[in-house]
Amino acid sequence: MAYWRRNARQMEAAAGGAAAAPALAPAKPPKRSPTRMMRQYDLVERVRAYNPDTDEDLLNRAYVYAMVAHGEQTRASGDPYFSHPLEVAAILTDLKLDDATIVAALLHDTIEDTEATRAEIDQIFGHEIGALVEGLTKLKRLELVSREAKQAENLRKLLLAVANDVRVLLVKLADRLHNMRTLEFVPPASRRRIAEETIDIYAPLAGRMGMHEMREELEDLSFRELDAEAYAVVNGRLSALADRNRNLIGEIETQLTASLTRNGIAARVTGRRKRPFSIWTKMERKSVGFEQLSDIFGFRVIVHTVEECYRALGTVHTVWPVVPGRFKDYISTPKQNDYRSIHTTVIGPGNQRVELQIRTEDMDRIAEYGIAAHAFYKEGVGSPTEMLNRESNAFAWLRHTIEVLAESANPEEFLEHTKLELFHDQVFCFTPKGKLIALPRKANVIDFAYAVHTDVGNSAVGCKINGKFSPLSSELQNGDEVEVLTSRAQSAPPSAWESLAVTGKARAAIRRATRAAVRDQYAGLGRRIVERLFMRAKIAYDDDKLKGALPRLARTSIEDVMAAVGRGEMKASNVARAMYPDYKEERLGVFGAAKKDGAPKPKSAEGTPTKAAIPIRGINSDLPVKFAPNGGAVPGDRIVGIVTPGEGITIYPIQSPALKDFEDMPERWLDVRWDVDESTPQRFPARLFVQNVNEPGSLAQIATVIAEHDGNIDNISMSRRSPDFTELTIDLEVYDLKHLSAIIAQLRAKAVVANVERVNG
Ligand code: MN
Repeated sequence: MAYWRRNARQMEAAAGGAAAAPALAPAKPPKRSPTRMMRQYDLVERVRAYNPDTDEDLLNRAYVYAMVAHGEQTRASGDPYFSHPLEVAAILTDLKLDDATIVAALLHDTIEDTEATRAEIDQIFGHEIGALVEGLTKLKRLELVSREAKQAENLRKLLLAVANDVRVLLVKLADRLHNMRTLEFVPPASRRRIAEETIDIYAPLAGRMGMHEMREELEDLSFRELDAEAYAVVNGRLSALADRNRNLIGEIETQLTASLTRNGIAARVTGRRKRPFSIWTKMERKSVGFEQLSDIFGFRVIVHTVEECYRALGTVHTVWPVVPGRFKDYISTPKQNDYRSIHTTVIGPGNQRVELQIRTEDMDRIAEYGIAAHAFYKEGVGSPTEMLNRESNAFAWLRHTIEVLAESANPEEFLEHTKLELFHDQVFCFTPKGKLIALPRKANVIDFAYAVHTDVGNSAVGCKINGKFSPLSSELQNGDEVEVLTSRAQSAPPSAWESLAVTGKARAAIRRATRAAVRDQYAGLGRRIVERLFMRAKIAYDDDKLKGALPRLARTSIEDVMAAVGRGEMKASNVARAMYPDYKEERLGVFGAAKKDGAPKPKSAEGTPTKAAIPIRGINSDLPVKFAPNGGAVPGDRIVGIVTPGEGITIYPIQSPALKDFEDMPERWLDVRWDVDESTPQRFPARLFVQNVNEPGSLAQIATVIAEHDGNIDNISMSRRSPDFTELTIDLEVYDLKHLSAIIAQLRAKAVVANVERVNG
């Protein structure tokens, strides 16, 4: 059974069946039974199922021609040789390819291995098919002569050979897939070489062409050969987990479908278990054990329109808590290989982390078939190559690589280039000075910064990738030139980076720096609080005096004392009393004076920051700072700090209604002011309430406006949906009030937006 014909459940649904079926794709790449070969009419049926105009006579002639040509030849398995081209053709019918490609697959080994000639094939099947078969013959010869040659050199020739028609590449990939599926019959000595070549060249090439199912199967088959033990362990664990969670997948599918239906979204929801190789690389990359890998199940939500993608996202985020930092919008910013989807992770039923990909049918087709989704050649559209050029970024990449190849006189140069493009588990990036930084695949700018130097990582605040401002979490691509922007104002990286970083080096450095920074932050806050108390009490504070009082406070250093005060473990008045035994605590605490005047708020709350106001630089500053959890605060807002023992300062805009809760606790109010370094822009959280007209594309328009104006969307949730309007809450990150106002103005200018308000929690 073809592996990528979706899972059993979907196939059954398509067939209208309802009997109990395993909810999961088979764990082990299944093998076709060698005893039952596909019949002539089976093949024709498969093609006709997606292409009613197929030239049945042509297919039949090719079937018979190849069968007769291969005659009594057998494969290593003992099967008739003809079973191989037939299976290759079958794989290509799963990709819904055109007649010429299917026929070329049937004939792909005839010129090399039988009496057949190019001239004869041209005569019987026409020039187009003759050219395809010849391209494949060249590739086959290439494999035979260059067994000892370097893989990159093989790849170079492979790409040159497919330059004229990408369909040659598609047949070649299907050929390799079938050979990998039947690898067990090949002599052990050759197996490893074939598997290595597959994982180094063919699997990444399939991925680069956007053919993810193909890439995953090639990877798994190679993985099984190259590290049988690891494969067995991972696969065994996956199966055990899948058994234990058998009901969970169905339950999540049902719940998701029901929530979406309630919101008027007709969606196809399917769950699947991730593949052994992808799990394994994740374990290696993050150096975590299987137990810590909670998201081994992925779900796809397939809807009809882009609009529905965002609506589905809003619904999902409303129903289940979101795992922060996992939201990615590849719809407004597609990947280079044309992949489009919204990714998010939520905490679903049973506290299980659920990874979701939300996309339309069209996007799903591209995600599964990649370049092959465009390759079905239709009459009158021009040549397949012309059509691909127009429609596919993946093909544009291929053309570009081939051009570089044709132009580079120097093979060394090409080897470098191809290594950069395809080396399977690494990305190679450059500093602005041209230093090469090699990182594991999926690494981002944070990893890059720490690979350059720990100090660069710790003080990174932004970056430019190929000259363009980009988020630090951006996944790096081969050949990217990365300029890391640093700020001395940032003493330590945000702790959230630890989960964003991919390399162990970056994660360890972040952990170290944040631990030290957290202590420094509390000490800094403690110092501010102690200094304030002394100022109010009109006593001069000095460190030496405190040093003498350390034994009375049972602490060993001034930093310790300050950190304890900052954490709320020790009162500032105790520190004062230890230093000045006759010190009397003001009954009303730090802000007692203000309270006596009848004004509970510090002066800054009225608009003018006092000199003593504590400078706020952002979450990575020298103080333990957070922003109002339900609405945030941005530079330009007039702000107030509220101290929570053990948590630090929370910054609220003065218009925030949440401040009411603290009116009776003047001791918790802190005078704060912004002190943001404009040369190294940082982002701050804000929340918008948006009411939009229910009209196709309206949500996508909103997301696009925000993205185009450099706003980062953190979360979208839908609060209410009436027949005419949808109410959304959008959490985003902006540089300052001006930036936020500009985005609000741009949103208001959209016809589909009825109302936009900033939310202050
Ligand atoms: Mn073959």
